[in-house]
Amino acid sequence: MSTRSPATPKQGPVIAIDGPAGTGKSSVTKRLCQNLNFIHVDTGALYRCVAHESIRSQLIKVSLLKDPKTRVFDESTSEKITQLARSIHIEFKHDVDRDPSNRVFLNGEDVTEAIRTPEVSLAASAVSAIPGVRASLLGQQRRLGCVGNSILEGRDIGTVVFPDADLKFFMTASVEERAKRRLSELESTGANVPSFEEIKNQIADRDHSDSTRAIAPLKPAPESIEIDTTSLSLDEVVAKMEAEIRNRLS
Ligand code: C5P
Repeated sequence: MSTRSPATPKQGPVIAIDGPAGTGKSSVTKRLCQNLNFIHVDTGALYRCVAHESIRSQLIKVSLLKDPKTRVFDESTSEKITQLARSIHIEFKHDVDRDPSNRVFLNGEDVTEAIRTPEVSLAASAVSAIPGVRASLLGQQRRLGCVGNSILEGRDIGTVVFPDADLKFFMTASVEERAKRRLSELESTGANVPSFEEIKNQIADRDHSDSTRAIAPLKPAPESIEIDTTSLSLDEVVAKMEAEIRNRLS
C-alpha cells in the first residue's frame, strides 16, 4: 500500500485525529465538526461495515473472534473479504431530525447501530489487518476527506491516509478510563453488558492488534499533537483542540 500523499489534492483544510478505541475521538470529532462546520469522516465505520458484511455472509465466524489466534484469516478468506470490501457501497448521510451525527448506509441499508456491537468491533480489528482491505478503503477515505473542511478520525489518518493533513492529533487515555467510559455507554443503551474486566481486556486486546499489525499500525504521526483525555471532560478536550485548529487555520 502506498503511503504517499493523496493522489487527489485537498480542496481545503483536512484535520487528522488518530488514537486507540475509547479515547473519545468520535464524540470530540462530532462536536468539533458542529462548531467549525466541518465534515466528519468516521473511518472506523468503513472497517466496521466490511466486518459486519463479512459476518453476515459467513466469511467470519463470531465464535472464533474471541481468541486472537483464530482471528487471523487464511489467504483464501482474506481474498474473499478483500473482494467484499471492494464490492460494498458505503455512504454517510446526515439526518438532523434523527441524530446530528452521520448515519452509515451499507448497500443502501442503515447499519449505524448494527456496526457498533462488540463482535463487529473485534471483527473490524481483524479485517483491518488484511492489506487488500486497507488498500480498498484507502481511496474511499481520501475521496471523502479531500473535499476539505473535513475531520477524519481513525488509526492511520496522519500517517497513511492524509500524511499532508493540515493538523494532526493523537488522542490517548488509560485503558481503565476507556473501559469505564465504554461500560457506561453500554449501560445507557440497556444492552447486555459485559463485566468491567471483560471490557478492559477487549480494549487492551484491540489496542494490541491495532498497534502491532504489519500494515499501517496505530502510532502517532511524528508531528501530531498528543491529547491525553484520561482526566479531561469532553468540553475541555473540545476546547483545547478547537483552539489549536482555529490557531492553525487562521
Ligand atoms: O474507530 P473504531 O473503533 O470504530 O474502528 C474499528 C476498527 O477499525 C479499529 O479497531 C481498527 O482496527 C480499524 N481501523 C483502522 N484504521 C482506521 C480506522 C479504524 O484500522 N483508520
